[in-house]
Amino acid sequence: MTALAGALAERIQRDGPLTLAAYMEACLNDPEHGYYRTGAPIGAAGDFITAPEISQVFGELLGLALAQAWIDQGQPAPFALVELGPGRGRLMADALRAARAAPGFLESARLTLVETSGPLRAAQRRALESAPLTPRWAARIEEIEPAPLFLLANEFFDALPIRQWRRAPGGWRERLIGLEAGRLAPVLSAAPADRPADQAAILDAAPEGAWYERCEAGEAIAAEIGRRLAASGGAALIIDYGYDAAMRRSAGWRETFQAARRHEFADPFAAPGEADLTAHVDFSALSAAAEAAGAAAAPLATQGAVLRALGAEMRAAALAKAQPDAAETVMEGVTRLIDPREMGALFKVLGLTARGAPPLAGFG
Ligand code: SAH
Repeated sequence: MTALAGALAERIQRDGPLTLAAYMEACLNDPEHGYYRTGAPIGAAGDFITAPEISQVFGELLGLALAQAWIDQGQPAPFALVELGPGRGRLMADALRAARAAPGFLESARLTLVETSGPLRAAQRRALESAPLTPRWAARIEEIEPAPLFLLANEFFDALPIRQWRRAPGGWRERLIGLEAGRLAPVLSAAPADRPADQAAILDAAPEGAWYERCEAGEAIAAEIGRRLAASGGAALIIDYGYDAAMRRSAGWRETFQAARRHEFADPFAAPGEADLTAHVDFSALSAAAEAAGAAAAPLATQGAVLRALGAEMRAAALAKAQPDAAETVMEGVTRLIDPREMGALFKVLGLTARGAPPLAGFG
């Protein structure tokens, strides 16, 4: 048992079963034992690898897409340049290098990294040591000054806590974390649970056995982004593995809660605090939250389509030509990002702006 498992078992004995969101929150962010507070999760030596770690082209193209949106919106200055959950800082380092191509962009930007992990803040500081902008850090997006907002988030929303419900005979039950023979185990609530009322129309059409997942923290952040875009302009590019409502139906209403340890799927209840816990992102819920707050969402696109439209293959060819020794690695990396059999189709890009703003580059 991990130290955190012991503490959670005591808490459950005292207060009763936890929601999955409370369990995820403790596993990821417990001040002493939380996964992100202690470890170094990302990269070959960690538990999982992400797009900016695979190829510099990812951050370069997203940086250029943001700079293009800034130009299309009349070069507002000053503006808030923000990344949510920057990991080891690669994406922003690559984005800033590429964005030097847009005169005035970096000079007008105030860079804030929204990050709660101490070890990852330190890694971000190192990655941006020789960058053209010096970052500030914030723990929450609410701390950022009101200003036009140009924002990136890659694999951030999948790390936020979700709750789960399952349609059982006789009604919906919430998945809770309880104790079985002294060990943490998932159970379904004994009583029919209140399904999220605002989702009634969708949920009442779901078949028995269906899972429904909800990320309240993610929806709140999407709403905050939406409010800021509506008030002051800007653009947000949110990239993650995930689905929309139609995909959820066609994929059979399955659950997506998962744990990763050393690049393998793991049991999410076996070693709390030591595995990365995530869930696929419900992009319909995020865009609905942003739109309700006054923003506009581009139709959800795949990562492969957006990166291709932004010129990923051309950029890869140019890099390969400039460094013939690394040509194979460069081409392999970009293929991994855009090929639908790899990350190209599973990962989606949600593009948000103010209503009536010029369309974002990369979205067809
Ligand atoms: N974007 C990076 C890292 C993805 S991992 C990449 O693509 O490599 C998720 C990141 O979000 C980590 O930096 C993690 O510490 C951060 N994070 C997770 N939950 C957070 C929260 N509630 N608030 C701020 N940052 C959070």
